Amino acid sequence: MDYPVVTASCRAVLFDLDDTLMDHQSALRDGVDEWCTQLGLPTGQHARFLQLEKKWFAAYERGEVSHAQQRAGRCREFLGRPELSDTAALEAYAGYLAAYRRNWRPFADALPVLHRALAAGVQVGVLTNGTQQMQQAKLQAGGLELEGVELFATVEMGAPKPQPQAYLHACERLGVAPAQTLMVGDSLANDVEGARAAGLQALHLCRARSPEATARLEATAQPEGIRSLEGAQSPARGGGVLRSLDQLRFA
Ligand SMILES: [Mg+2]
Repeated sequence: MDYPVVTASCRAVLFDLDDTLMDHQSALRDGVDEWCTQLGLPTGQHARFLQLEKKWFAAYERGEVSHAQQRAGRCREFLGRPELSDTAALEAYAGYLAAYRRNWRPFADALPVLHRALAAGVQVGVLTNGTQQMQQAKLQAGGLELEGVELFATVEMGAPKPQPQAYLHACERLGVAPAQTLMVGDSLANDVEGARAAGLQALHLCRARSPEATARLEATAQPEGIRSLEGAQSPARGGGVLRSLDQLRFA
């Protein structure tokens, strides 16, 4: 079932960072619990925090609020303290960030896939909707800060995924045409649909074993066990879903 996918037509690969190379949701869950404990609040509120993060980050991705404003907004809403100024909310949010950082862990398949791509002579980048400073520190904490792996953090680049400029800027910096670049990530909107709209190839990483993910994976299974990237991406065959980064092979 976990057939290899061979990316013979790609000269570059861009990985998303959060929930693709690094286990963001586990770090968030444990970070929120630690922060709540410090504040004297009940633990187990990570699902609500994650929901607010998605809501406020989507507003940032639509260009409605700045990156700092989405942090302040979700902090006010999570704490139920609408009276907090941006400055006060960001100060409170720093407590969460410190706890979140203490829980940063890479997925086990992250380092091996970066090494395989580099060994095959493929250009490697990480394209993430975050700040350069935080995402660089995250790569370092995960042991993923390798020579030859370029970080593209869209907060500094000006246009977040899924805006086409985000992918095109990364391709330009790597010196590879979009059509010869593969984007891999966990977000259908940001890592697959947006990338394909900008002319890149894309594969959707579905680590969850939800019934929907399993059905999509089963729809893409082939008897011969190995498939080309082109076949794997075909919408008629289920739309290019990976269960694990271990499946990716670079020819
Ligand atoms: Mg992600």
